[in-house]
Amino acid sequence: MVFETLHASQLKGQRPHRTDMTLHYAVFGQPIAHSLSPRIHAAFGAQLGIALDYRAIEAGRAEFPHALDAFAHAGGRGANVTLPLKEDAAALCASLSERARRCGSVNTLLREGEGWHGDSTDGAGLLRDLRERHALDPRDQRILLLGAGGAARAAAFALAGAGAGELAIANRTHERAAALAAALGAPARALAWSGLAEAGAFDLVVNATAAGHAGATLALPSTLFASDALAYDLSYGRAAQPFLAAARAAGATHAVDGLGMLVEQAAESFALWHGRRPDTAPVYAALRG
Ligand code: NAP
Repeated sequence: MVFETLHASQLKGQRPHRTDMTLHYAVFGQPIAHSLSPRIHAAFGAQLGIALDYRAIEAGRAEFPHALDAFAHAGGRGANVTLPLKEDAAALCASLSERARRCGSVNTLLREGEGWHGDSTDGAGLLRDLRERHALDPRDQRILLLGAGGAARAAAFALAGAGAGELAIANRTHERAAALAAALGAPARALAWSGLAEAGAFDLVVNATAAGHAGATLALPSTLFASDALAYDLSYGRAAQPFLAAARAAGATHAVDGLGMLVEQAAESFALWHGRRPDTAPVYAALRG
């Protein structure tokens, strides 16, 4: 199947899609050509018999507000937003869900009247993947979160809300980890990256940094992983490989990427738009295959 990617500039002057019954959705980001979201939403729509058009639209931060306006004008009903636009999307919304407001980032937009309602489904997607695919319930677990960007914030609030016993946060820019830990309160605490070797052992280590996209490997001390620990990278495909390899070398028993989270957060967006939750298992299996 081939999915067309549009550039934001191609949206200018598009007429509203008033003549067909197809529902129009999109994912905005930069880069976006390799996004799996069009494939995932097409599969969900086919599964539930919902006719929808979901395309990828390349837009940087400067182009995004106009591109989103043009998309709404052309009949866009909902959108996903990815790097680097999640915080900009939150600022553009007329209303926000409680979870989006808390983590200050939006990955799902729903057209309501003349404005956008914003939600963040990343945290729920992570929890569902951990629980259902990897048999890990965060309750009472010792968890280390690497990163303090938009996805890390969503993950942190979700993990803390799920009853994590301990939530240590380390980030390249320490101040951001400290601010996130302060926003969460107990049991969260910020750790200096240089102090990871003395931080003890964790049941779950979540990589929410974007380091793998640049091919960078994070230094992971061998003391980090408790027995039977899970290493989880939010990214997937090639970007996840440096962290997963480093985690295995440091003694992690299990090391998995974020493909399952991607499918689960998409299902959560889909349910918000269409009022029905798709079965994610066959879609995940097809992508993994
Ligand atoms: P972001 O807001 O740009 O945050 C990037 C984070 O990575 C920051 O904490 C940054 O640290 C850190 N970082 C970047 N390069 C680094 C390096 N070379 N070494 C160490 N730390 C580095 O990005 P995001 O939206 O949170 O996305 C983060 C990751 O999650 C991406 O890989 C993205 O693909 C993935 N993600 C996956 C899903 C899914 O559904 N599976 C959903 C959302 C995001 P500083 O604060 O120091 O800059």
